[in-house]
Amino acid sequence: MTILVIGAGVAGLSAAHDLAQAGEAVTVLEARDRLGGRVYTRHDVASFPIEFGAELIHGDRVVTWDWVRRLGLHILNWPKQDESLVRMEDGRWLTMRQACDQDPDFALTRTWARDFPTPQDGESFAAYLERVGFSAEQIRYVRRSFGNALGEDIDLVDARAALDEIQDKESGKGDFRLVEGYSAFYNALAEGLDIRLNCVVQRITWGAAGVEVLCADGQRHQGQAAVVTLPLGVLQSGAVCFEPELPVDKQAALAGLRMGASIKMIYVFEQPITEPHIMAIYSRLNPPTWWSPSAGRDVPGQVWTAFISGNWARQLLALGEEGALQAGLDALRQELGRPDLQPVARYLQNWPQDPFTLGGYSVVKAGHYGAREKLAAPTPPLFWAGEASARTHQAATVHGAYLTGRRAAAEILAWSGR
Ligand SMILES: Cc1cc2nc3c(=O)[nH]c(=O)nc-3n(C[C@H](O)[C@H](O)[C@H](O)COP(=O)(O)OP(=O)(O)OC[C@H]3O[C@@H](n4cnc5c(N)ncnc54)[C@H](O)[C@@H]3O)c2cc1C
Repeated sequence: MTILVIGAGVAGLSAAHDLAQAGEAVTVLEARDRLGGRVYTRHDVASFPIEFGAELIHGDRVVTWDWVRRLGLHILNWPKQDESLVRMEDGRWLTMRQACDQDPDFALTRTWARDFPTPQDGESFAAYLERVGFSAEQIRYVRRSFGNALGEDIDLVDARAALDEIQDKESGKGDFRLVEGYSAFYNALAEGLDIRLNCVVQRITWGAAGVEVLCADGQRHQGQAAVVTLPLGVLQSGAVCFEPELPVDKQAALAGLRMGASIKMIYVFEQPITEPHIMAIYSRLNPPTWWSPSAGRDVPGQVWTAFISGNWARQLLALGEEGALQAGLDALRQELGRPDLQPVARYLQNWPQDPFTLGGYSVVKAGHYGAREKLAAPTPPLFWAGEASARTHQAATVHGAYLTGRRAAAEILAWSGR
């Protein structure tokens, strides 16, 4: 059987890997001139890899650890205790450990250590938090930290879906960085596969006879089945045309999800700007979250990355690239009381304006719990993968994307009777 896989991000590569292992003929069609999609490791910015997309392994029990072990990769742990600084709402600087010990209201927004009532249908996460008694200050902490990580403003996100993510017990604890860079993982997944780069898919014709894909350069590819891993933003934009149109259920699934806005701003400093053990800063300003990919490495200088989502990201992007980078630097200078800080290089990775992503990662819109499962449902000969189609607690992650690729590969093999 010939199978087309659309997209060489982690979902596409994992589907193609499994299908190739099962002996199928697989061709991966990728619009960019590189692999990895939203996992984008750059080796030309510093003396060590810098992540412009996904950076962390979220959880000590997730499936990507199998690859870490298999490839013998090294890991840096981010414990979020004494090495992370928090600017409290009252202006104090505390370490994360001190903040949690000294302020139980803050601690609740980090640990979620209490029983939470079931959200109501259609309730946004922000409305839910207010209803269950979070103070205005606690909600501000949630917006700054968990809300930012969620990838979109908490007023827009379904409360039940948000709680699924927070209360995810399957993935384990902690956040970990790959010393060799995430590229080690996606390059290993891609090994031996037939991957066509610079192949911008424009039209997917599907039916009982199989699938035909038309690319922007006029090339056509045929297969008995296809795995679609296009990012939610691309699917929603209509940039890729499906003939015939997708079924109503699939369109409803797409309408029930929202592509969040996430960006990264990366600053390279010749000298350390904090004490060397400091790994992260939770700021009261915009950007709200900073971390240092150089922490824990024996390298000269320091690199700091700002991770910004939702309204925070839109506010910065409205300033244009230079304006956003300057605003980020000004905020860092103000928080550290260091007006003299001057990076030797700075970068904005603008995922929402990247035509092959059109956003950061997906969230479930308030009132649309279950949309991810609908997006995942096979419509043979089309099969669906990609982070947006992951189980709710795994969506918006690398391990989630990986698992959707494996799921789609298994679905194709079952459908074809293998
Ligand atoms: C800023 C940021 C930070 C993140 N941080 C983390 C993190 O720390 N940890 C974590 O686990 N996750 C993180 N994520 C989420 C993670 O990156 C994604 O969930 C995951 O990489 C998605 O993989 P995917 O294969 O579903 O999609 P993608 O990686 O987007 O792959 C889809 C592929 O389709 C291609 N494509 C698009 N249009 C076309 C077309 N017309 N024709 C052909 N190909 C096309 C794209 O170029 C891309 O390669 C982050 C994401 C962002 C944006």
